[in-house]
Amino acid sequence: MSEVQKTLVLIKPDAMQRDLLGEVLGRFERKGLKIVGLKFIHLTDALLEEHYAHLTEKPFFADLKKFMQQTPVAAMVLEGWDCIDEVRKLVGSTNPRAADAGTIRADLSMNMPSNIVHASDSPENAAIEIKRFFQDDEIYSYEKITDRYIFGEGV
Ligand code: UDP
Ligand code: MG
Repeated sequence: MSEVQKTLVLIKPDAMQRDLLGEVLGRFERKGLKIVGLKFIHLTDALLEEHYAHLTEKPFFADLKKFMQQTPVAAMVLEGWDCIDEVRKLVGSTNPRAADAGTIRADLSMNMPSNIVHASDSPENAAIEIKRFFQDDEIYSYEKITDRYIFGEGV
């Protein structure tokens, strides 16, 4: 059943270096996702080891960590109908060269770890990741005049 959800997105250092922050943010905006939290964060070793705990034993983990610390990342909480899966669909699969054309990773990147964006992959992880990066008072609830089209019947 459809529900309004929140998800966590990080815009990674390759997007920051390549001036793609606006492009990526714009794709989420154009879809009709509401940005309810937004800030820059420098990812410490401890934060990255927690966030990528499922990857710490992988041979590429050291490179991934170094990459993720090259610039601050733009962290955001997005809200919308079924947005955890919808955002993963817009982002595309992990390897940009295997991702479907039209997705952010396929359209804007070629390699890992530099695949532009992180997005939560399940309701459980979205809840954990939002708490990892945002305090409750950094997440806003507000109405937009477009809500009737995005959240309602659109009439
Ligand atoms: N990654 C990598 N090499 C790999 C797999 C993953 O460098 O072989 C990096 C890549 O930046 C990826 C991140 O590790 O986005 C997290 O991996 P995960 O499997 O969680 O993929 P995601 O959820 O980001 O699609
Ligand atoms: Mg993941």
